[in-house]
Amino acid sequence: MAEEKAVISFPRRVEPDAVTGLPQRKHLDTDLPALLRCLGPEGLPLSVIMADIDHFKIFNDKWGHETGDRVLRHVSGLIREAVRYRGEAYRYGGEEITVLLPNTGIREAMASAERICTRVYDTPLRVQGLEPLSVSVSLGAASTETVGGDELLVCADKALLRAKKAGRNQALPYEPDKAPLKENVHVDVYFPNHSAVVGGAYVILRRWFSHQNDPTEIEAREVFLPGSGSHEIAEGRFPRGGLVETEIRGRVLEVQRQGAATWFTLEVDGEVFELMVRCLKEAGG
Ligand code: GH3
Ligand code: MG
Ligand code: MG
Repeated sequence: MAEEKAVISFPRRVEPDAVTGLPQRKHLDTDLPALLRCLGPEGLPLSVIMADIDHFKIFNDKWGHETGDRVLRHVSGLIREAVRYRGEAYRYGGEEITVLLPNTGIREAMASAERICTRVYDTPLRVQGLEPLSVSVSLGAASTETVGGDELLVCADKALLRAKKAGRNQALPYEPDKAPLKENVHVDVYFPNHSAVVGGAYVILRRWFSHQNDPTEIEAREVFLPGSGSHEIAEGRFPRGGLVETEIRGRVLEVQRQGAATWFTLEVDGEVFELMVRCLKEAGG
């Protein structure tokens, strides 16, 4: 399948933010709606990453505001560098940086967010007269694959908050608030190969009986297993390599529809995990 991409270029800003050198919040405020218009409502995905430096206040308090500014500039540079060919980074305010990633779905956005996280953590800032300063960031990501364009920033921010609460120095995707649900689900999942599950976390769902127990034959559905819990299930439950066909029988705890995607929270043999199901081709189509 040939990959479709919109050609996007970000203008060079004449008045970047003085501390970070990044485009300012006001540029984000004009670029985001412009990109949404350009990609269209049913068009290519756009993702947003919100990054916030962990315990930034300590740098100011311990080594002074000037060193705080350096930390901010250092992290901004690393983030900008990491997304150079994919999107643009903006200073959102304070020590928060927003990244816009056109043509990018949540899976790729999460890969970028994780790369940024590792890069920042692995690159301490060297300041004369001080021990190398180790810095970390927390990040949240959201994509138009699962949320409306006008909710991108808010949802990425919610994901960022989750990353903070989960212990900082990590990236997490936005997860919709879920409504409780009860019925059984029966899902036949076809894993093309094990490495695809672990590395990319994409599998094809062959048949899907909806949560209303309305048996719907789905020809091809793409399933994204977000987070490490689902990876664990893939590793523990399914043999390595080759073609594996399997069945998941579980209880649907929650179902949430968001645009083209459906989120399931499943309980399988006492383990709870989540599936994001995105329709590639409508049944019978
Ligand atoms: P958390 O891990 O929860 O994000 O903790 P934090 O300390 O990073 O967050 P908090 O919001 O408590 O502190 C942010 C600080 O960033 C407070 C503010 O004074 C400082 N700050 C905001 N803008 C600048 C700036 O341009 N330069 C410097 N040096 N400090 C700034
Ligand atoms: Mg912070
Ligand atoms: Mg902050």
